[in-house]
Amino acid sequence: MVRTRRIQRGLRPVGVSFANLRCGWTSKVEPGKGQSPRQPAWPRATLALDLKALGTMGQATSEARTLTPFAIDLDRSPFTVIWEVTRACDLRCVHCRADAQSRRDPRELSTEEGRRLLEDVRKLESPVFIFTGGDPLRRPDLFELVDYAVELGLNVAITPSGTPLLTPAVVQRFRACGVRRMGLSLDGPDAKYHDAFRQQPGSFGWSVTALKAARECGLPTQINTTVTRGNRRKLAEMSTLVGDLGAVTWSLFFLVRVGRAQDTEQLTAEEFEEVFAFLYELSRRVPYQVRTTAAPHYRRYVLQRQTEERRRQAVGVARLLGTIPQDMPAAMPRALHGVTDGRGLVFISHIGEVLPSGFLPLVAGNVRQASLGDIYRSAPLFRALRDVSRWHGKCRDCEFVRVCGGSRARAYARYGDPLAEEPLCAYLPRSTRRSSPSASFNLR
Ligand code: SF4
Repeated sequence: MVRTRRIQRGLRPVGVSFANLRCGWTSKVEPGKGQSPRQPAWPRATLALDLKALGTMGQATSEARTLTPFAIDLDRSPFTVIWEVTRACDLRCVHCRADAQSRRDPRELSTEEGRRLLEDVRKLESPVFIFTGGDPLRRPDLFELVDYAVELGLNVAITPSGTPLLTPAVVQRFRACGVRRMGLSLDGPDAKYHDAFRQQPGSFGWSVTALKAARECGLPTQINTTVTRGNRRKLAEMSTLVGDLGAVTWSLFFLVRVGRAQDTEQLTAEEFEEVFAFLYELSRRVPYQVRTTAAPHYRRYVLQRQTEERRRQAVGVARLLGTIPQDMPAAMPRALHGVTDGRGLVFISHIGEVLPSGFLPLVAGNVRQASLGDIYRSAPLFRALRDVSRWHGKCRDCEFVRVCGGSRARAYARYGDPLAEEPLCAYLPRSTRRSSPSASFNLR
């Protein structure tokens, strides 16, 4: 109860144990290493958060490292465009969002339709474009599409599956084509956990081989880890592996109950905070970026910690000067929008449907009938997701709404309403504390 109250008041939870969350790293990413010969640096820049940028690759992500801000009007253009080129995949992951199948869907966008989509994406000038699946390597025309995307000037990332199709030669070809980043999933620090999770013996080994091949040829990598009840005590070990494999980013995906994902694997709101605490500390000492996916409230956590640290520094200075302020204002760092479902993020399914993200299964249109830009800007669903005044619950009135906003996908999975509040956030907004008797009780 004490911990819950501290979280709600914006303080670090008391008694968060790091005993099982030991972390470390052993290899450094060399500056400049990994740049593609055909393209300039990956746009590390994202949206400004008091110069602590909130980066993205894929679903709504956040990080606590200092990057250059990237200005973009999210009402006009998404920051990240993700195209699920196929749902076919040789893995059978227990949590699969796409409920991936072993065979390709005959209704998939054709090569020609894909090329037109890429031209559409180019008009949006979005900083990040991702080929995802299923397993993108199950499409025979993948490299033709990748080549065309690079030719159009898109910043291309790709998220293949850890299968025998992902050979070192394929990784080298990604690099030669001008792919800027490869994202690969590793859900545990060893084959036992990962292969069981992916339901494919050997997947861990194929993934590690591919990541090493990427490091060898200078292709920057992102390791994606789905956080569940089963692996949350293995995250420290995972963080070491991420460093050893030379990834530039570690993105932790917080489960949303969609596709094959089960609620029983979901962490509680308090456990989210514990993982956030671990990630925040980790992000300060590892050479790679630490991000979250489907947990925009990590941004709120980072702001809370930074605010608390600055206040402490200010008190320290005041003490030195002999003038301790009576009423220290809780300085709120300047923050712009975070990227989340439909607000900076758009997802195109294998059959051309346009959705706010891969985890929010509501279709706003189809690129076979309308342009991606028109759907993103004008579809009622997308407009509602960007209009906080139409939301319900505590997120709408939260002081962190612009930088966080909660996972709209998780709100939909829990309540059937994407405009409802994030169900797994332990924070209680100030306005709610003032107006709710039970919330006031929590402040004592
Ligand atoms: S209440 Fe909603 S907007 Fe506020 S921090 Fe939590 S998830 Fe984010």
